[in-house]
Amino acid sequence: MTKALIIGGGIAGPVTAMALQQAGIDAVVHEAHSSGAEGLGSFLTLATNGVDALAAIGADKRVLASGFPTPGMVLRSAGGRKLGTVATGSPRHDIPPSQTMRRTDLYEAVRNEAAARGIPFEYDKRLVDARETATGVQAIFADGSAALGDLLIGCDGIHSTVRGLIDPQAPAPTHTGVTGSGGYTFGVPVRADPNAVTMIFGKHGFFGYAAASAEEVWWFVNLPAAVGPTFTGGDLRDWLASFFADDAGPAARLIAAGEDLMPLTDIYYLPHLPHWHSQRMIVIGDAAHAPSGSSGQGASLVIEDGVMLARCLRDLPIPEALRRFETLRRPRVEEIIERAAKVNRTKAAGRVERVVQGLFLPIVLPLLARGKSMRRTYEHHIDWDERVA
Ligand SMILES: Cc1cc2nc3c(=O)[nH]c(=O)nc-3n(C[C@H](O)[C@H](O)[C@H](O)COP(=O)(O)OP(=O)(O)OC[C@H]3O[C@@H](n4cnc5c(N)ncnc54)[C@H](O)[C@@H]3O)c2cc1C
Repeated sequence: MTKALIIGGGIAGPVTAMALQQAGIDAVVHEAHSSGAEGLGSFLTLATNGVDALAAIGADKRVLASGFPTPGMVLRSAGGRKLGTVATGSPRHDIPPSQTMRRTDLYEAVRNEAAARGIPFEYDKRLVDARETATGVQAIFADGSAALGDLLIGCDGIHSTVRGLIDPQAPAPTHTGVTGSGGYTFGVPVRADPNAVTMIFGKHGFFGYAAASAEEVWWFVNLPAAVGPTFTGGDLRDWLASFFADDAGPAARLIAAGEDLMPLTDIYYLPHLPHWHSQRMIVIGDAAHAPSGSSGQGASLVIEDGVMLARCLRDLPIPEALRRFETLRRPRVEEIIERAAKVNRTKAAGRVERVVQGLFLPIVLPLLARGKSMRRTYEHHIDWDERVA
C-alpha cells in the first residue's frame, strides 16, 4: 500500500490524511509542536466551498458543530454607516452557508476527527531535510529521527520548510502591510448584525467582530503596520484600543474588555510559487498558495487541496498525480489570492483613501457580490467519485 508522509498537523495535514485514507492510501502526520497549532488566532469563517470539501470526506458534521452559520458580512464605516452587505457564500439554497468558528476549534475538530479515524500523529517531529530516491522519500527530523514513505506532502504552512526542499529558489512570502491581533469579549452588549460578521473600516485600522452568543463577541483587528511592536497583555490591549478611539463603533470597548488576546502577528501572503512539486514531494495549502486572512478562503482552499490531492493520487501514479493536482488547482487559487490582495490594499490604506473607500464601496460591493468570480469561488463542488483523468 502507498504510504504518504504528511508534514504539518494544522488544517491541511489532518484533512489530507483523512482524504488519503478514503482513497486507500496510508498517511502519518508529523507535527513540529508537541500538540497541534491550535490556540492561534481568534476566529475565521469557513466558506461554503470549504464546507463542501469537508462533506466529500464525511468530515463536515464535527467541524460544523463548533461554529455558527454566517451567510453574510456587513461592512460599516468609522462613523457606523452601513456601506453594504456581502454574501460569504452562494445564494443557492441547496448549498449550506459559511460557518464562523474559533480558529482553535477548527484545528481541534479536524485533528480529533482524523484521530478518531485511526490516523497516526507524530508530535515533536520538525522536518529539517528530505531526500528523494527513485522509489521513495526519506524525511529527516530535528530530533535526529527519520521516516520513509512513497511520497511527502508539505502541509507545513506559510513559512514552509518543504517548499525550500522542493525548490531552494522558491520565493519567500510577502508581507501584506497589515499586522493582526484578536480576542474574545464577554458581557459587553453590542449592536451586532445577526448571522453576519461585521467589518468596520475604522479611521486608523480595520476591525471585524461577530456575536457568538448574547454574551460573547469574537473580534479581530488588522492594522496598517509593517511590523507590530511586541506589546503583550494590558499594554497590547491599550495599544490596540488606541487605534479605534476616534471611531463610532464598538471596537474600542470590545478591545478594552477583551480576553485571550492573540499576540501581534504580521500577515503574509504567497501569491505565486513557481514549483509546487518534485517527483515525490509536493506542497499544498498555505505552503503552496497563501491568500492572507482577507480572502476568507485560506482554510477552505486548504481543505479543497487535501481532498483534490487524494483524488489525484487515487487515480494516477505518483509523479503524474502531483502534476495533475497542480494543473487543476493553480488557476483557482491564484485568482482568489489576487482578489484578496486587493482587499489587503484597502486595509492598509491611509486616512484619505479610507474616505474614498466610504464613497465607492456601497456602489462596488453589490456588483462584486453578484460577480461570476465570487460564484466560482463559493459554488465550487468536489465530486469524490468522479475519476481524475
Ligand atoms: C489572522 C488570520 C486570520 C485568518 N482568517 C481566515 C478566515 O477568516 N477564513 C479562512 O478560510 N482562512 C483564514 N485564515 C487563513 C487560514 O488560517 C490558513 O489558510 C490555514 O490555517 C492554512 O492551513 P495549513 O494547514 O496550510 O497551515 P497551518 O494552519 O499554518 O498549519 C501548518 C502546520 O505545520 C506545522 N509545521 C510547520 N513547519 C513544520 C515542520 N518543519 N515540520 C513539521 N511541522 C511543521 C505547524 O506547526 C502547523 O501545525 C486566516 C489566517 C490568519 C493568520
